[in-house]
Amino acid sequence: MKKITALLLGAVMALSLAACGGSASSAAASSAASSEAASSEAAASETTEAAALTTVNAGKLTMSTNAAFPPYEMTTDAGELEGIDVEIAGAIADKLGLELQIDDMDFDAALLAAQQGKSDMVMAGVTVNEERKQVMDFSNTYASGVQVVIVKEGSDIATVDDLAGHMIGTQRGTTGYIYCSDDFGEDSVTAYDDGLTAVQALNNGQVDCVVIDSAPAKEFVAANEGLVILDTEYAVEDYAIGMAKGNTALVEAVNGALAELKADGTIDAILAKYIKAE
Ligand code: GLN
Repeated sequence: MKKITALLLGAVMALSLAACGGSASSAAASSAASSEAASSEAAASETTEAAALTTVNAGKLTMSTNAAFPPYEMTTDAGELEGIDVEIAGAIADKLGLELQIDDMDFDAALLAAQQGKSDMVMAGVTVNEERKQVMDFSNTYASGVQVVIVKEGSDIATVDDLAGHMIGTQRGTTGYIYCSDDFGEDSVTAYDDGLTAVQALNNGQVDCVVIDSAPAKEFVAANEGLVILDTEYAVEDYAIGMAKGNTALVEAVNGALAELKADGTIDAILAKYIKAE
């Protein structure tokens, strides 16, 4: 992770210097800029021209998501959307001079919307994988996720290998579904509309476990007595923003904004706000 951050910082510098015409105001930014990066042709040519961006809805950055994936995206009692992705998307939109619009739908629909250019981007704790890279472009990664297993206290499932022969609940269209159906067969996996519904099925005894990303898993377990997360990690993944394939202008603009937000600590602050250190 450290290496990746360092690399990204380099990219940030190149982009932010280019985008701001060298007005990099933060001390961190100027001190991190190597003269090499600042003077490279790549830096000079990668100017982020937000104004020239064509988006699905003029003047707006339209994000498709599934707001049932806390703490990345969730709906408050008052019906407002909030979470890590919501805030990062808002910060990106600000950088690009666009107004953020969020369209809430099922996870698989949210992926498809971006893929088909019905939204500008999908942010939904989306894991980058080869299959998805075939059909959409991804930004640089902004967070990592781990697929974990939720079971009832006292379950005979103690490791991922023990999932064999059990009924597994997942969310439709997710990497959790893909891993489980590949490893244990489709007949062993039930795909629910969202993570919460899968957890309810576990509570009701319709499945023996739920495979889902660790951050929402922790929230669901905290809110439901009698559930625990196994210590074993099923898979470690990177989250990124998905966009229609070939929309290079948008990918570059989003990467430029992301890099600036990483460099100035905004992304870390948003992650820390929603994910408390253990
Ligand atoms: N990270 C998982 C995936 O991309 C799950 C995302 C989600 O359920 N919102 O498949």
